[in-house]
This record gives sequence, structure tokens and C-alpha cells, in this order.
Amino acid sequence: EKTPVTILGLGAMGTALARTWLTAGHPLTVWNRTPARTGAFATEGASVADTAAAAVAANTLVVVCLLDDASVDEALAGADLAGRDLVNLTTSTPAQARARAQWARERGARYLDGGIMAVPPMIGVPEAGGYVFYSGSRALFERYRETLAVPVGTAYVGEDAGFAALHDVALLSAMYGMFAGAAHAFALIRKEDVDPAALAPLLSDWLVAMAPAVHQTAEQLRSGDYTKGVVSNLAMQVAGTPTFLSTAEQQGVSPELLTPYFELMRRRLAEGDGEEDLTGVIDLLVRRPAAA
Ligand code: NDP
Repeated sequence: EKTPVTILGLGAMGTALARTWLTAGHPLTVWNRTPARTGAFATEGASVADTAAAAVAANTLVVVCLLDDASVDEALAGADLAGRDLVNLTTSTPAQARARAQWARERGARYLDGGIMAVPPMIGVPEAGGYVFYSGSRALFERYRETLAVPVGTAYVGEDAGFAALHDVALLSAMYGMFAGAAHAFALIRKEDVDPAALAPLLSDWLVAMAPAVHQTAEQLRSGDYTKGVVSNLAMQVAGTPTFLSTAEQQGVSPELLTPYFELMRRRLAEGDGEEDLTGVIDLLVRRPAAA
């Protein structure tokens, strides 16, 4: 017998998730603020609840996938959560997730928070490699491990309910850095007779080739020795920055995406050790609590 699932929220993501449970034969109850989105599910055999409270009452496992943390408040305001197992896949900050876990506890529910590392077309497509970070109740994660793995992979990252959001935002932040770099690269060739479609595979392969550098960064952070295994030292890299800035200028491209990082590299070199590579920049980013 498959675990019955309630899902609140049939946006792009909620719809994709819900469909996989329905297809896999899980009894499904759905609710959406705008009822029009539930139509297809009704004809496919799901129960459609008129209110979020009724959807919550229908099953022990309640998956929430709404726009943001405020919409979770709004949707669940009138629901009785006592005895429910709440799995919240709504994107939030770590602090919001921790507060939500506390909020659920006060209402007699067990709580698992999730951060989705996938876009809707990756849901129900295991080879696409998407997954969800989970944190909060380990017992809840273990209990529903199989059911949660139906739409997309799972990765449990700890009892602290904020950790899923923290990992989610960390990975997405790195992604934006990568996109920023790619934007600058495309801008450099924009005025020239270089086909962006010819640059794209070179860019993609280069980013993939450079990505494993994060393992060395992690090793250096763990050991505290930022000179360990260095192949491109900071002094050399800072000396190279005028080449990047002059090239941008020659191509009529604003350097605004590069300069903040170069600035940090220069500061680290001024304060520290030219035999390091780029790991020291991390220490400049981390704000330390003011000394008492
Ligand atoms: P959509 O904008 O497609 O859907 C938003 C959903 O939230 C709808 O069901 C909407 O209901 C509901 N909603 C919004 N405000 C309220 C409210 N005040 N009360 C009740 N319901 C409300 O978003 P997605 O489905 O794409 O995203 C859902 C979550 O998944 C978000 O937290 C998002 O960050 C996360 N996510 C999405 C990804 C994506 O690529 N789409 C990727 C990774 C995570 P209604 O139909 O009535 O408007």
C-alpha cells in the first residue's frame, strides 16, 4: 500500500511533484488557492480539497510547495496540524525554516524542511540528476524516504531545520557567480564576429574543467593552510587583473561583474600571502561578530 500524500500548492513545481505521486499510485489529495489548477488532477483520480484545512485533515503526510514563507502562513492559518507530518518544500531562508519548524512543533506537527535543487522539467526524470535537500526531523525523513524519492532524489543534511535552505542558497549563490562570469564572457565577444554558439561549448567545458577546484578550496579551509597545493598563486593572479580590465575596456564592456572579486583578491594580497591562491578571499567575506 502506497503512502497517501497531501500536497498544498499546484504551481509549476507543485504540479510536477504531484503528478509523479499520482502516476506512482500514491493516493493523492491536492489543494490550490486558485481552484482552476486542480481540474486535471480531479479527472486523473486525485481528491481535490476545497480548503487547505481539509487537505491537511485528509492525510498524515502533508507536502507544502507554495510561493514563499508568507504564503505558507496564509494557507495554513486555519488548519489543524496536530499529528501531521509536514514536509515544507517552499523556498525560504535558514531563519524562516527554523522558525517554521518551531511553529509546526507548537502545533503538534513533525517537521521536515526541503530545498529543491531542480526545475520542474527535472521532476520525475531521475537521469536529470535533480534532488531535494532535506533537514529537520531525521525520523520523518527516514519514515518517508521512499515516498519522498518518487519525484526526485533526496539528500538529508541534518537535524537543524535551516540546513536545507542553507545548502540550497549556497549552491544557487555559486550558480549566480558562474552565470555572472559567463555573462561577462559573452559581453566581451558581443561586438566581434564571434558566434556566441561557438563560444558556448568552450565556455561550458572550461567551467566544468575548473569546477573541481572547489575540492582544493575545501581542503585548504579544513587544514587552515591556504598555500597547500597551490598552482596559480595570488600574486600572479592579481598581477594579471589589469589584463582583464583593459580587455573589458577595449571591448567596451563594463567591468562591474569582475571588479568586486578583483578588489577582494587585491585586499587579500595586501594583507596576506602571495603564495596562497584564492581561498583567503573567503575570510574577507565572513563578517566576524564585533569584539566585546
Ligand atoms: P508558482 O509561481 O508556479 O506557483 C506558486 C504557488 O503558490 C501557486 O500554487 C500559488 O497559488 C501559491 N500561492 C502563492 N501565494 C499564495 C498565498 N498567499 N496563499 C496560498 N497559495 C499561494 O511557483 P512554483 O510552483 O514554481 O514554486 C513553488 C516553490 O518551489 C517556490 O518556493 C519556489 O522557490 C520553489 N522552487 C521552484 C523552482 C522552479 O524552477 N519553478 C525550482 C526550485 C524551487 P495560485 O495558483 O492560487 O496563485
